[in-house]
Amino acid sequence: MADAPGCGPLRRARQSGSLSLRQRIYEQVRSAGRISRAALAKELRVSPGSVTPPVSDLLAGGLLCELQDEGQPSGRGRPPVTLGLNARRGLVAGMKVSDHEYSALLVDLAGQPVAQATLPRSGADRSVAGLLDDVATLLSRLSGAAGHGAPPILGAGLGLPGMVDHTGGRLRWSPILAARDVDLAGAVSARLGLPVSVDNDANLLTMAELWFGRGRSLSDFAVVTIEYGVGLGLVVDHAPYRGAHGFGMELGHTKVQLDGALCRCGQRGCLEAYVADFALVREAPIALDGALPPRSEVLETLYAQAKGGNEAARAIFDRAGRYLALGLANVANLFDPNRIILSGSRMRYDYLYAAEMLAELPGLTLNTPPPVEVNAWDDLVWARGAAALALSDLTPRLLA
Ligand SMILES: [Zn+2]
Repeated sequence: MADAPGCGPLRRARQSGSLSLRQRIYEQVRSAGRISRAALAKELRVSPGSVTPPVSDLLAGGLLCELQDEGQPSGRGRPPVTLGLNARRGLVAGMKVSDHEYSALLVDLAGQPVAQATLPRSGADRSVAGLLDDVATLLSRLSGAAGHGAPPILGAGLGLPGMVDHTGGRLRWSPILAARDVDLAGAVSARLGLPVSVDNDANLLTMAELWFGRGRSLSDFAVVTIEYGVGLGLVVDHAPYRGAHGFGMELGHTKVQLDGALCRCGQRGCLEAYVADFALVREAPIALDGALPPRSEVLETLYAQAKGGNEAARAIFDRAGRYLALGLANVANLFDPNRIILSGSRMRYDYLYAAEMLAELPGLTLNTPPPVEVNAWDDLVWARGAAALALSDLTPRLLA
């Protein structure tokens, strides 16, 4: 979590010109945590007088509140007052589905965590009906954990692996569900009785970085995740880039070798076919001399062997690292980001981002490559990103 107070992207005035002044004020207060009227006008580059009517309106509507400024001496007359978000106006839920587990987080409108919950998931049940039952159970666990007297839940964000059209709310395909091309946001929304946004898991990580992480102050950055596949999230001008069809970017299936290794997608030469789990496991029998552990332990064993000096095992991770450098260089050449953030639990396999691998970047990029930062979040980061998604989509509705 960032040290800065507040949450949400730290936009500059020129970068939020298309929004109403009312929404710009609300978002500025949210990202600052607390701010005086004078500082607010200065940040938004408008006259102090012009913020007065919308601020009064937001105060009357219970969206903003006035805070006594504890840091200032009160002096004569009234103590100085700053504006803050009325965080208790409502809550949003962020939920992440993986093949074996659900994780969820309830946050207030200022992004502060209120409750969390997890639920095991049967990977064998690949039905939408099962998912709806589980999500309803998860939400009631969150409500129970928040306790009586908690503010109302105003919306939810749900993330899952696969091809998800955030704008249309449709799930095109997911490895964890049998159904194809379903109105998932509509189905979950009907079940929970709440507005629901859906997105793919790489975009959730991107939202977590943009709202709560190191990406808050960056205008343009890329988040690369390596788990079962290789995902890319891109932020352009402080907002997630979603492509024409809302699918996000399939970095894992960009080609890095013509007629190369076979990928799970059926095509050849994809980055994922050299960097993802299955790519490392494919060569393991040779490095481990045929002594294969159970499938779930292959990667850990291979990693331990590489650390222990097994040259063949090390060569597998070394090649994956070099291909990862190639993938990152392609991202840098295409998008010129301020920074590339490597995110996800795979980051513990440090061969993949060893200094010698990243040292290859300058030889693969035309300009000085952007800083590459490794961010190994905990498991709740996905739910946090889903909560950011819900907050982001709820904001215009709240202010309408
Ligand atoms: Zn592929």
